[in-house]
Amino acid sequence: MHNSIPYGHHWIDKDDIESVIAALQSDFLTTGPKVDEFEKEFAKYVDSKYAVAVSSGTAALHTAAFAAGINSGDEVITTPMTFAASANCVLYQGGMPVFVDIDKKTYNIDPLKIKKKISRGTKAIIPVDYTGQPCDLDEINDIARESGLIVIEDASHAIGSIYQQKKIGSISDLSIFSFHPVKHMTTGEGGIVTTNSKELYEKMLLFRNHGITKDECDFFSNSKGMWYYEQQLLGYNYRITDLQCALGLSQLKKLDDFIKRRKDIAKRYDEEFSKIEGIITPHQLYDVNSSWHLYVIQLELEKLSCARKKIFDELHKKNIGVQVHYMPVYYHPYYQQIGYKKGICPNAEWLYERIISLPIYPKMTDEDVEYVVGTVKNIVKKYLIK
Ligand SMILES: *Cc1c(COP(=O)(O)O)cnc(C)c1O
Repeated sequence: MHNSIPYGHHWIDKDDIESVIAALQSDFLTTGPKVDEFEKEFAKYVDSKYAVAVSSGTAALHTAAFAAGINSGDEVITTPMTFAASANCVLYQGGMPVFVDIDKKTYNIDPLKIKKKISRGTKAIIPVDYTGQPCDLDEINDIARESGLIVIEDASHAIGSIYQQKKIGSISDLSIFSFHPVKHMTTGEGGIVTTNSKELYEKMLLFRNHGITKDECDFFSNSKGMWYYEQQLLGYNYRITDLQCALGLSQLKKLDDFIKRRKDIAKRYDEEFSKIEGIITPHQLYDVNSSWHLYVIQLELEKLSCARKKIFDELHKKNIGVQVHYMPVYYHPYYQQIGYKKGICPNAEWLYERIISLPIYPKMTDEDVEYVVGTVKNIVKKYLIK
């Protein structure tokens, strides 16, 4: 039996371990120099002016939703083809996610359909760069500008992706990234928001630390003494530690290599699977460059004598830890309980029945990749209707 191959896995080496040990031996375990350094390096990497590092990608989404001014009753447009956190951050702020269907080719939110869902209550759009392929950001930002909406790009899948020569993280009002171990680079848990707006940046710094400032220049009242600080808004403890940022800094140095390996694997899969009847490979637009967080194949169920589950289960029996990204968010019992009905995004629902995420991560060996290629081909061929 082949060693087991998960759909994603982190890469940790000696540099990472030494970097964290050095942080452990320093004077700061949290909120020290490594946080600043990591934010500056990350902002530089994505060509944004500012970055605020927080304790998870989900915390980054919540922080961005707060900074965007999402409030009780506000409607926020997002895609159902995402991890629940992209929509949950709207609920945290008392707002209401409005799901807009995806484009059947790119699997990203369809800008034409966004327009139709904008109402007087709409406050923001949260596009998700699904699998790493950037959304139609020009179109989405134009729509947002016309209607006075703010754009929070969930770029959790798209660190290092490029949209028309621009780095993801430099384009939308706010962009968020996750450093969960399954993503392109990791801090254990962690996330970051990037922006070019000083105003949004300063709001987010407060929000991640209870809404508290110790900076005399920002006080509402006169300082009462050296001990004095003010809580000026209701924030959370979403701080990230120096240990995590030390890891983030050493990971960042290897990020381009990680991404290159992901691209090589995707290219190999494309080569093989585009020739296979029964499989549709991920369609990539000409003006974007994906960093490939996920490689998602679509099964042409009309040509197969079985459902997706059969192929999924057989891959697991062969030790290939495939996944499904994603079930439409509003299928979840919680969303059903709060009143979302099935049927609202037919393309996403259609796609959900036929997708499988194949393993893709830098630590995969060429031999692992060929094993996946061979096994997927054999299984799909077996069920092809002649
Ligand atoms: C991973 C992910 C998140 C959440 O990130 P965490 O760091 O796990 O909180 C949000 N949105 C998308 C699309 C993700 O893939």
